[in-house]
Amino acid sequence: GKALVSGANGYIGMWTVQTLLERRCSVRGTVRSVDKGKYLSDYFSKAGFGDKFEVVVVEDFSKEGAFDEAVKGVDAILHTASPFHWGAKNPQVPAVGGTSGVLNSALKYAPNVKRIVITSSCAALINTGLSKPTVFTEEGWNETAVKEAEEQGDKTHPGVIYCAAKVLAERFAWKFYEEHKSEVGWGITTILPAFVVGPPIQDVSSPTSLNQSLQMWYDNVLSGSAKKATLAQANTWVDVRDIALAHVLAMENKATGGERIIAAAGVCLLQDWVETANALQPNPLPSCKLSVGFPETLEGERVYHMSYSKAKEERILGIKFRTMEETTRAIFEEFAKRGW
Ligand code: NDP
Repeated sequence: GKALVSGANGYIGMWTVQTLLERRCSVRGTVRSVDKGKYLSDYFSKAGFGDKFEVVVVEDFSKEGAFDEAVKGVDAILHTASPFHWGAKNPQVPAVGGTSGVLNSALKYAPNVKRIVITSSCAALINTGLSKPTVFTEEGWNETAVKEAEEQGDKTHPGVIYCAAKVLAERFAWKFYEEHKSEVGWGITTILPAFVVGPPIQDVSSPTSLNQSLQMWYDNVLSGSAKKATLAQANTWVDVRDIALAHVLAMENKATGGERIIAAAGVCLLQDWVETANALQPNPLPSCKLSVGFPETLEGERVYHMSYSKAKEERILGIKFRTMEETTRAIFEEFAKRGW
C-alpha cells in the first residue's frame, strides 16, 4: 500500500515516514518547498528506500484543493503538518485549514483510503492551573484555551493559540467525519502525543534551531541555563520514534477507527532529564558540559501534577515505550554524529 504523510519534513513527520518505509509501505510525503523535498529524497535514498519514497510540494495547505493531487492513489493518510511554534496569530488558520484541506481532498479524490490518522496533541486535552494532581483521559477537551483565544483575540498568548488550534482542528475532523461518514470508506484516528523528545533526523543546522519541543528539552537539559522553577515543572513525555510508531499502528489496526488515543511514555520533571543525562555511562556526547541542575527539586516527594491515562493506548496499540535513558542516549548519539 501507499501512505500520504503531510509535513513529511517535520520532526514527527520524518520519523513517521522512516517507520512506514521500514515496514515496507510506500510513502508520498508533502512538504512546502522543493528544497525541503530534496533533503528528504536524499535522506531516504541513502537509507535504501529510494524506490519507495516520493515527495510532492504543497505550498499552501489551506488553499482550496491544496491536497487534491497529493491524495490520488493512496490507501492511507497521516496528517502531521501543523504549526508547532509560538508564531501563529490565529487558531483557525492554518491548523484548521490544513485539516480541512486534507479531509476535503480525501473525500473527493481518494476512494481507496481506509484510514486517516491525524496528529492532535495532549495540548487539546489539558487545562492549565491545576491545583491537584490530575489524570487526563481521552474524554477531555482544552476548553479553557479556546475560550481564552476567543476572548483575548490578538492579545492571546501564543502557547494558548497553539492549544486552541489543536482543539479546533481535531474537533473539525470529528465533525467532518460525522457529516460524511456515509459517503466515505475510511475511519479517522487521532493521536494525542505528550511532550515529544528523542533524536532529530530532520534538516536542522544547529542545536539552536531545533523544533519547538526538542528545543525546549535542549535549552533546559543541555545548555545549562535552566531556571529552577522550570526544571521542577511537571510534564509528560514520549519518544519521537514511539510517536511515529503510534501513527503507523493507528493506520494498520482496524480497532483504532473512531478513536482518539493518548500516547505518553510517562511523567517527568525536567530535572529528571538532567539526572538521566548525567548518569549516562559512557557519555556519548563528550563535548557537552552537563550541569547538575537543581538536584534538590528531586528530594522528598516528587509532585507530578498532570499525568495521562494509558489504558486506551495499552488496549489498542500496546507500544513498549522507550525509557528516558534510551531516549537521552539516542539524542546524544545523534548530536555527536552531527558534530554538535
Ligand atoms: P515540526 O515543527 O518539526 O513540524 C511541523 C510540520 O508542519 C512541518 O513539516 C512544517 O512544515 C509543517 N507546517 C507548519 N506550519 C505549516 C503551514 N502553515 N502550512 C503547511 N505546513 C506547515 O514539529 P512537530 O513534528 O513536533 O509537529 C508535528 C505535529 O505534531 C504537529 O501537528 C504538532 O501539533 C504535533 N505535536 C507535537 C508535539 C511535540 O512535542 N513535538 C506534541 C504533540 C503534538 P515547514 O517545515 O515547512 O514549516
